[in-house]
Amino acid sequence: MAGEPQPDCLFCKIAAGEIPATVVRKTERFLAFRDIAPKAPVHVLVIPHVHYPNAAALAAAEPALAGELLAEAGAVARDEGLDDYRLIFNTGAGAGQTIFHAHVHVLGGKSMTERMV
Ligand code: AMP
Ligand code: ZN
Repeated sequence: MAGEPQPDCLFCKIAAGEIPATVVRKTERFLAFRDIAPKAPVHVLVIPHVHYPNAAALAAAEPALAGELLAEAGAVARDEGLDDYRLIFNTGAGAGQTIFHAHVHVLGGKSMTERMV
């Protein structure tokens, strides 16, 4: 069924507390934890507890939850003291996605003025 935990999914295991992570924020529907290989002074991943392979699939199946994910990312940035930050959704292996459980990267703490598009 859509949203069900997947046995081989690392982020499902982190969401379930089966694999440790440096958690910075936990709510009924989301977990935020520090990226294990940070690309910026602040690099936090925000995931829904439910499993979808990417953010677009989450938005298609549960649009309200996808909206809440954005609010949650904003709350993480606020908690981390960031006024300026970047949100990234890698979607598909060709775009650099390596974990196929919907997540948003919250990056900040250094100047990130270079444009990607
Ligand atoms: P993506 O490339 O968008 O799929 O992002 C996956 C991110 O998960 C990468 O930035 C990894 O560094 C990060 N990551 C992988 N394993 C862990 C882990 N056990 N705890 C925290 N972050 C992880
Ligand atoms: Zn998962």
